[in-house]
Amino acid sequence: MNLSSGLSKLHPSGIRAVMALAAARKKLGMPVIHMEVGQPDFKTPHHIIDEAFKASRSQYIGYTPNAGMDTLRESVAERTSRRNKINVNMENVCITSGGVMAIYLVMMAILESGDEVLVPDPGWPNYLSSIALSGGKAKPYVLDPDNNYWPDIEELQSKITPKTKAIILNFPGNPTGAVLSSERMSELIDFAERNNLYLISDEIYEDFVFEGKHVSALNSVSSDKVILISGVSKSYSMTGWRIGWIIANEKIIAASAQFVEPLASCPSSISQYAAMAAINGPQDCVKDMLNAYRRRAELAMSVLGEAGLVMNRPQGAFYMMVDISKTGQNSDDFVRNLLDDVGVAVAPGQTFGLSSTNSIRISTAISDDDVIKGSTLIRDYITSKSL
Ligand code: PLP
Repeated sequence: MNLSSGLSKLHPSGIRAVMALAAARKKLGMPVIHMEVGQPDFKTPHHIIDEAFKASRSQYIGYTPNAGMDTLRESVAERTSRRNKINVNMENVCITSGGVMAIYLVMMAILESGDEVLVPDPGWPNYLSSIALSGGKAKPYVLDPDNNYWPDIEELQSKITPKTKAIILNFPGNPTGAVLSSERMSELIDFAERNNLYLISDEIYEDFVFEGKHVSALNSVSSDKVILISGVSKSYSMTGWRIGWIIANEKIIAASAQFVEPLASCPSSISQYAAMAAINGPQDCVKDMLNAYRRRAELAMSVLGEAGLVMNRPQGAFYMMVDISKTGQNSDDFVRNLLDDVGVAVAPGQTFGLSSTNSIRISTAISDDDVIKGSTLIRDYITSKSL
């Protein structure tokens, strides 16, 4: 059968592969501790679910404009303005079916064939597919645990070619749990301006910073070339509702919204009503989740960190990178062996880039008990397999 050559441009995530193996194990009745997926374990808060029911009974649930409902665009604009002390209008906001789609739309809107995009390594693998499908070329830059997993400006500068069009930043970071300082963010904004690049800042974990405050690329900056990606998936435990957004210059937003049409027409309208309740409603739920993620990070640190196995103390999100170099195994093999031998599912480092073949990512978006049990099993396994 003749299928599209575009399939070969996709970067299937190693996380999904582990999920499938873990599911197969569960089917056989064997226990699994799930530390592989970046999915909050909390139920979506009640007031958000209630609003979805209310809206579906009282409103006409039809198509919305490509860029989303005006009321939601206004709410997101107001929230972004308030958080960053800048002036964001509805025309600067495109609502999307999750942050995933937001990233894809931005790539479709800005890239020409052969354009290069600087991407973090380790970094979230989905960026690679979006770039490739939009005709672009990903150019990894290294995030070094010994340098807080922050980008190195000199290294970035050495990667610039006439084709470099954009840089992607992701703080708080997946898979690193790293949070950027405001000084380094300013340097990165200068770097992007100096080289005439779009700076795409994926801030989907913006509400989960353990100490201090989240530093946004839009904080006090209103550059035409800064593009912010965020959404409700993580902040309000709404991954399945599929609502994210792009904040950018009006022209980028208009172009992105045009690409929504052949993909989805518009994001789900029920979910848009729910997202409005999330953004405009009580925010204690976000604080409660932040406190839980901070506590769980500490629990994992008390087991794996104490044993010297954590690459860098996480400052946010709900991930950490664990060093497996003592075992001499590459991360793909290690992940399979760990699951087979002790029933803990984790993500292989190499799915996040070539810099991380000797590490694994654990997600602490699971119960406190499972964080302790899983971390202990991982620590003991690494110790038992150490060369
Ligand atoms: N960006 C990063 C770094 C992520 O880890 C994720 C999800 O895991 C997303 C964006 C997209 O999330 P969603 O599409 O659920 O909004």
